[in-house]
This record gives sequence, C-alpha cells and structure tokens, in this order.
Amino acid sequence: MLPVQLIQSLEGVKGFDKESFLRVHASGSQVTSVRLNPSKHVSGEWSMLNEEAVPWCEHGRYLKERPFFTHDPLLHGGAYYVQEASSMFLWTVLHQTVGNATQGLKVLDLCAAPGGKSTLLASYFTGGLLVSNEVIKSRASILVENLNKWGSDHVIVTNNDPKDFAALQNYFDVIIVDAPCSGSGLFRRDAEAINEWSEDNVALCCQRQQRILADVFPALKKDGILIYATCSYSAAEDENIGDFMCKTFEVESLPLKLHDDWNIVETISKHKSYGYRFYPDKVKGEGFFIAAFRKTDGVERSLKAATVLQVSKTEQAFTQAWLTKSPLFLFRQAENIIALPEVWKYDLAILQKQLYLRKAGVTVGALKGKDLVPDHELALSLLINANINVTGVNKETALSYLKRKDFRLENAPKGWNLLRYCGISIGWVKVLHNRINNYYPVNWRILKD
Ligand code: SAM
Repeated sequence: MLPVQLIQSLEGVKGFDKESFLRVHASGSQVTSVRLNPSKHVSGEWSMLNEEAVPWCEHGRYLKERPFFTHDPLLHGGAYYVQEASSMFLWTVLHQTVGNATQGLKVLDLCAAPGGKSTLLASYFTGGLLVSNEVIKSRASILVENLNKWGSDHVIVTNNDPKDFAALQNYFDVIIVDAPCSGSGLFRRDAEAINEWSEDNVALCCQRQQRILADVFPALKKDGILIYATCSYSAAEDENIGDFMCKTFEVESLPLKLHDDWNIVETISKHKSYGYRFYPDKVKGEGFFIAAFRKTDGVERSLKAATVLQVSKTEQAFTQAWLTKSPLFLFRQAENIIALPEVWKYDLAILQKQLYLRKAGVTVGALKGKDLVPDHELALSLLINANINVTGVNKETALSYLKRKDFRLENAPKGWNLLRYCGISIGWVKVLHNRINNYYPVNWRILKD
C-alpha cells in the first residue's frame, strides 16, 4: 500500500496520473535493465547485445527476464552493470549539456556508491578524470569494487564529506549530485522503501540536499555543469531544489530536448528551473528526477598539492612490462605500484592534499623482493599488457574460480595466468607444477551455489 500522504502530495504535480500510477505499482510488473561496458568486448554471440535498447542511453539494454546475475562471470569481469533504466538518462543529459568534447574534463560524482552513475560517467568521460566520492566508508568499499570491475584507469575514489570539497574552489568542470532522498521512485521494486517513507523524512532529505549542494557548489568552475538527480517523486526534493539552486547561486537552468515517445515529463518550477520526471506508468523504468544547471560566476585559483611518492627507474621498467598503455604516471603507496594516465599526475597531488583517497588509477601490483605480484585491479583493467599469459575458461571453470573452489586447467603455462571467460578477464591464477593458486579476492568470492 503506497503512503496516502505521498499520493496526496502528488495530486496536481505535472505528469502524475493517480489511477495509472497506482495500477502500475499494484501490477507486480518489473523492469530489468543493464548497461554494457563499451571498453570491454565479449567474444562470440552475446545475447545481451541484441536485447531491446534503452532509448536514451546507447549502452543500455532491457532484459526480457531477470537472470541470476551472481552466476554470470561476465558481470564479475565488468562487461556490464545492472542499472535501473531511467537513471541511464544521465547519458543524454551529458550529451546535451556537456557535449562530446570531454578530453581533459574533471568530473565529480559526489554521492557515488554503489557506482551506477560513476560507471556511466567513466564510460562517457574516457579522456577526463572522474573523482567518484562516497561519504559512508562501508559504501565506499562497494564503490571501489564496482569501479575496479569496470576497469577504467582515469578514476579516483574518495571518501569525504561534501564540505571537504570546499578546498577545491572552481576546480571541477562537471559535478553530479545524485542525492540521498526519500526513495519513493523505487517503491515498485523495493517494498521496504514504502515502510521507511514519511513526510518528516522528505523534509529532512530536502534540508540535507540543500546542504550538500551548498557545500559542493564552490568546487564547480565558471561555465561548469551541475547535474542534480533523485529517485523521489516529491516536489520538495525535486522542483523546489531547482528553485533553491536558482535563488541561491549564479546559475542558469538548462532545458533538454525530449523525444515525444520517451514519455519523460518536463516541469518548469516557480523560479523557471527545468526538471525532468520519470513515472513508471509512463516510461519503461523506475521513478526518477533530473535537472541540469550551468554556473555563471567563479574565478579559478591555484591549489596546493601533496608530494606523491614516485617509483624508481628500475621499478618503472619492471612494472611497465605488465602494462600496455602509456604515457602512465607510476607511483607508490606502501608496497603497491599504481598507474594513472600521466596527464592527471598534478591533479592526483592536488586531490591527495585535500581529500581521503580510497583508490587512484589502477593498482598494478605489490613489489615483493624482485617480483611483482599482480593486483586483481590490473587483471580487470584496460591497462594490461597483451603479452601476459592468458587462459580461456568455460563457464563452469570460471564459476569455480570465482567461488574459490578447486578446478583444473589443461595446458596452462606455468606462472601467472590471466583467466578469461568469453574474452573478458576475470582474475589471476599462478600455475605451479602440482597445483593452481587462486588469486581471486577472498571477500569478493561468490558465496551462493
Ligand atoms: N549515485 C549512486 C549510483 O548511481 O549508484 C547512488 C547514490 S544514492 C542515491 C545516494 C548516496 O549518497 C548514497 O550512497 C549515500 O550513502 C550518500 N549520502 C548519504 N548521506 C550523504 C551526505 N550527507 N552527503 C553526501 N552523500 C550522502
């Protein structure tokens, strides 16, 4: 049963049709969608590729039924991400507001865990730097895991409060605030969210959303784009926040072009802020709201940087043998060697000075005496050298590996081997003369049979 106060508050909100809204929530119908990773190529026939496309995101696909995702090695290899279709509209928003010239842009995803928007942003801004932040420590770990699987080298994960970004005045070209909200947009798929909903919580969320935006806004450059999103239907968290933006900051609200058959509802608030509403009885997706703004003031300042521990020439040569791409900046953190595109070297030092970094670029491996023990991040990344030993495995072996159970490999050469399933790397094994050592991270292993 949907909260009566929510339904009452939506009467009169543009696009809200009570009868069909209630009907779709009562119907039990579910939509399953995934977003494919354009940087990873599955070999052979891959059924997901040919599924119905999500109209506003070229990499989005609707699945006819929900598979048991946990038992698909391609998910663990980062070939796709399971994401709700409405929120993939971010792809179209970026096309229309930022455009295609993304080289060198610095992007912040402020409320990023578990990583749905961040993996999309990593695919969109391949020539940019993505700072993906999550304030809650445990959720930041899930974010790191999902971004590691995605394999991008141009991502830094931070674990900071929005107010910590005040130190980075006029620094980012694009900021995404996918704000914590009352969650009514997810009622159809998450019955628990219904019990947690209250008018008080909406009021609390809307205060928090304003605080988050006020904290992070100074970090946006002049002419930079701020994209605000929620999965709430409440105007207090959507259009009213658009008004808050227009009243409080020097911004211009950006209208978007919509196709009629998308059935997305455009709203224009009191202070002429454009917003885009997704209702599950109108679109093939869940409840969602998004709005974009351009900042019209601000002056860039020079920022302080930390000293980053560079690797020695020998370590550099040694590590480079595992890597394909250059120019890369290699640096050390304890025994680990980490690679980041060379162009972001100075920004790494700036971010390290101001924020708590949980991940930067790709961890290549750990130095153990004269050996480098390759990291799981390297296995899943796009930086791996093509000359590394690769062993292709079938689904059964891939699942045994991902569960850290015993399995055999025929004809695998001795030493480090990268296991691949349908062309997608899933992790390292070390083949010894009488056994195979499984290097799949223990805390990521599949527990369900
Ligand atoms: N962007 C994510 C995605 O696409 O997968 C979903 C983000 S979720 C809607 C909102 C996130 O904001 C949560 O991960 C939550 O932990 C975080 N959060 C909660 N309180 C916060 C606060 N006060 N400031 C910033 N982020 C907060």
